[in-house]
Amino acid sequence: MGLASREFQQIEEALPLLFGDATGLPPGRGRNGNAPQRIPDGLAPWIEHLLALDEMADLLPAAGVTLTYEELRGLALLRRAKRQFADEHARCLECRTVYRLPGRCPRGCGQ
Ligand SMILES: [Zn+2]
Repeated sequence: MGLASREFQQIEEALPLLFGDATGLPPGRGRNGNAPQRIPDGLAPWIEHLLALDEMADLLPAAGVTLTYEELRGLALLRRAKRQFADEHARCLECRTVYRLPGRCPRGCGQ
């Protein structure tokens, strides 16, 4: 992978955009307000790579695969972004809509 793998700050800002679609909310509203609105083209292949690694993570040792520093740090950023998203959102038990906390299902289930 090229330089994109070392753009840790950009990666950290872009990762929440992965989850924007799940909420139905406009993506890219980062904590600092200046997060990019979409994943930059230059980062997309690298983030795809990190997502694939994350899915395979428990199998990598058995395959004898070792990760680079960039992969490990990228995975850590990805997992932090996932945790943060999980902390800030809930899924409606009735209609499965994902919504931001605090709040209730925007479709008005269970009210
Ligand atoms: Zn609902």
